Amino acid sequence: MKGLSVLGSTGSIGTQTLEVARANPELFRIDALAAHSNIDLLEQQVREFKPRLAVVGDEGRYLELKSRVGHLTRISAGIDGMVEAAVLKDADVVVTAIVGIAGLIPTYNAIKSKKDIALANKETLVTAGRLIMAAAKENGVQILPVDSEHSAIFQSIGENSRKSIARLILTASGGPFRSKSMEELEDVTLQDALNHPNWKMGRKITVDSATLMNKGLEVIEAKWLFDMAPEQITVCVHPQSIIHSAVEFIDGSVIAQLGLADMKLPIQYALTYPERKAMAGKKLDLFEIGTLDFYKPDLEKFKCLRLAFEALNIGDSACVVLNGANEAAVGLFLEGRIGFLDIGNIIEKVLQKHKASVPSTLEDIVALDLWSRQQVIELFETGCR
Ligand code: MG
Repeated sequence: MKGLSVLGSTGSIGTQTLEVARANPELFRIDALAAHSNIDLLEQQVREFKPRLAVVGDEGRYLELKSRVGHLTRISAGIDGMVEAAVLKDADVVVTAIVGIAGLIPTYNAIKSKKDIALANKETLVTAGRLIMAAAKENGVQILPVDSEHSAIFQSIGENSRKSIARLILTASGGPFRSKSMEELEDVTLQDALNHPNWKMGRKITVDSATLMNKGLEVIEAKWLFDMAPEQITVCVHPQSIIHSAVEFIDGSVIAQLGLADMKLPIQYALTYPERKAMAGKKLDLFEIGTLDFYKPDLEKFKCLRLAFEALNIGDSACVVLNGANEAAVGLFLEGRIGFLDIGNIIEKVLQKHKASVPSTLEDIVALDLWSRQQVIELFETGCR
């Protein structure tokens, strides 16, 4: 039986992870649950799964959580609590389903404690891929991708060697604005952006999917996870989201993974790897699907994807800045304070301001992240976007 520590247990990936655990009680034990602030749901989860530790990220809610379930389990809070959950003794796998760069420090500590990682937090590799992959290697830790594209690539690679891979083909649904013109994009609303055609996800990642920054972050994540050069990664728009990604090998063979758009599949595969377990639910019916379409992404219209490739080519610090500026700009968009196209324009300005470097510590990365967020606020406050 595998002991799981679930960081981000009340979010979209976290709740689906618990669905997988609920369906397989003989395989999984929940050792720790950590949530940002939704203590109503966290309380329910604690009562159901009886973890040894429950953590609320928002320290202001510590006492309330303690009064509700403090008699059932140990309670902790804040970033220290997240790290406590990440390194908990006896937990075998840490599921990192926290949103944003907040996932970085707990994930790094989990690796140092030799926990295998089911990685759903893409910002960890985007901002610190070099340090994280080196730490994983040094500690003999497996990083198992939960993101559907990276899981598809991981499954497609199988036993093939790194040398045999020619390139990765990351598929993208294209988001809700795939067929909109540049003029139409000027007027789209937050509600339009939150209305994803194929996937139900949290708000930040849904906006990232509308700008295609999500795909950009995934390109950077794939570079680190699979040790690829930037030019070995291609993005292919595939509106049906049936092919979750593919790998082209040096002999021209292309192997892809297909399935319905259900995150429980990549979650379960990461948790049961190297085995496969049965899973209830609807299965892919090719006759029902009929047609699969593929397009080149429009990098003029979806500037964020172009900026992600540019950042990847500039190097490590640019990826930190890209990510930090994006988190801050998406935050402003979610608050209704900037327009949809401002997101890309602001990130571009911040990238232009930054000086390229290779941060060698987590502290440097966190400082650079903070710098890029401050630049976004400054640009916003001076009306420059
Ligand atoms: Mg994805």
